[in-house]
Amino acid sequence: MAIKRVWIVEGCIACNLCEDLCPEVFEVPAGGTSQTTKGHQKFLARDEDMDDKIREAVESCPVEVIEVEDS
Ligand code: SF4
Repeated sequence: MAIKRVWIVEGCIACNLCEDLCPEVFEVPAGGTSQTTKGHQKFLARDEDMDDKIREAVESCPVEVIEVEDS
């Protein structure tokens, strides 16, 4: 299944891990919390490697606040 949508719910502790793992989709602005990058949609369901990177970020988030919806 490919990832159709990704978002971050409340509770991010700004550890930066998601951005380190997949900077195409996640960014953690200085002093802020994680958000999806502008234009991240073009990376969704693009290829298996990119989906794997996103899923790795989801699984690695220490507070489990990254959500994905599969198509
Ligand atoms: S991995 Fe989780 S806690 Fe860390 S910056 Fe990303 S969303 Fe926030």
